[in-house]
Amino acid sequence: MGRTEEILKELDEYLMTNLYPTHRIVVREARDIYVYDVDGNAYLDFMTVVTTALLGHNPPGLADAITETAKRLIAGNGYNWYTEELLNAAKAVLSLFPDRNMYNKVHFKLSGSEGIELALKIAKRYTKNTYVMYLMGGYHGRTYLTGSYHGMRRKEYGPLPPGTLIAPFPYPYRCPFGDMPPEECGKAAVETIEYYINYVAIKDVCCLVTEPIQGVGGIVVPPKDFFERLKRVLDTYGILLIFDEVQSGMGRTGTTWAFEQFNVKPDIVVAAKGMTGGLPASAVVTRKEIASAMQLNDEHSTFGASALIMAAVKATVDYYNMHKEELLSNAKRMGEYAMKRLMELYDKHPLIGEVRGLGLMIGIELVKNRKTKEPATKETSDICLNRALKRGVLFVTSGWNGNVIRFAPPLTVKQEHIDKAIDVLDKSLGEVEREENIK
Ligand code: PMP
Repeated sequence: MGRTEEILKELDEYLMTNLYPTHRIVVREARDIYVYDVDGNAYLDFMTVVTTALLGHNPPGLADAITETAKRLIAGNGYNWYTEELLNAAKAVLSLFPDRNMYNKVHFKLSGSEGIELALKIAKRYTKNTYVMYLMGGYHGRTYLTGSYHGMRRKEYGPLPPGTLIAPFPYPYRCPFGDMPPEECGKAAVETIEYYINYVAIKDVCCLVTEPIQGVGGIVVPPKDFFERLKRVLDTYGILLIFDEVQSGMGRTGTTWAFEQFNVKPDIVVAAKGMTGGLPASAVVTRKEIASAMQLNDEHSTFGASALIMAAVKATVDYYNMHKEELLSNAKRMGEYAMKRLMELYDKHPLIGEVRGLGLMIGIELVKNRKTKEPATKETSDICLNRALKRGVLFVTSGWNGNVIRFAPPLTVKQEHIDKAIDVLDKSLGEVEREENIK
């Protein structure tokens, strides 16, 4: 029995492993795109939207910044006293924003979910309205509140939290209003949102929270003009637009923020994951006028914004800023290359219903039949958790129906890594199609 099997056996005994139905590997170390398990097997990380290795695992400077800080200061948070690390992290994060009139205040929390909850509180304080609007299929975390806003929420969560409105998201491949061109679908979604604002919430809406591109929802890219239209409506009613850029942020889509590609400036942006280099942090960014609605003691967190975490955020953002041009152009170039290669797979494999994405945030939606679009849920999970894993590539599933493979390598990915991942997908898809006679 290898070390992996030994550890997995004990994990099953002691840990609630029924909560972790993901990759059955035991990781020992990781560098750049490579992840190594305890038996020395190497894997390519194509799921960095979840592992947070946006800039590759352990980018230069990160471990040193953490170690240097740890030798001086570990305990304590950024809410009961200040640290220089907190100031430096705040400046670093704000430096990532294109318009300093719109984005000049930041507050740090420990996770994406907590960041979203803070954004909602800010919107409630600022507008003095109560309803929160969220879009179907979006994902904003798994705390009790954000979990209830979950696109794949379950009956066990019970009724929606009071004051929640769920409106349709324009998912071009599966438009909730029926088959129509993407722009029409986006227009219908905005009209429905306006209807809800007027006739369901009676104009008592504080904010609409959405991802620019749905990540867990299946890498769903809305029509290009959707957010522009939406913002115009929200502005009419004084409703804040909150963008959850936890997955799409800091270069993932080929621009620092995905909102830059949709010609819209959200009022509040929540970032986390890649920005932290792997330590627990999220940043809630807005403008002074909105931030000033918060009051003393509205927020606290025992471990929040500790010097150690802040040092990691600064080191990660500094590395990004230092190599920004290179990283963004690589994300664009490699993203285009991957799309081209994936379209070749589309021509060859009937199991692929659609390939879509921006930069290095790509989704491959699998269907049993291209006409009926019946989701190939079991097959998607089998490819990610068994077939590709065995061949040394880490992919993670997503989608309302669990039938989308996320193709999300780090911004440092090279063509040879993409070729290997495509080759693994090609073989895995072919196997499933043969076994299940999918033509
Ligand atoms: N928002 C989005 C878009 C996410 O993808 C995630 C995590 N998958 C979250 C929020 C929640 O972040 P966390 O797991 O850090 O709470």
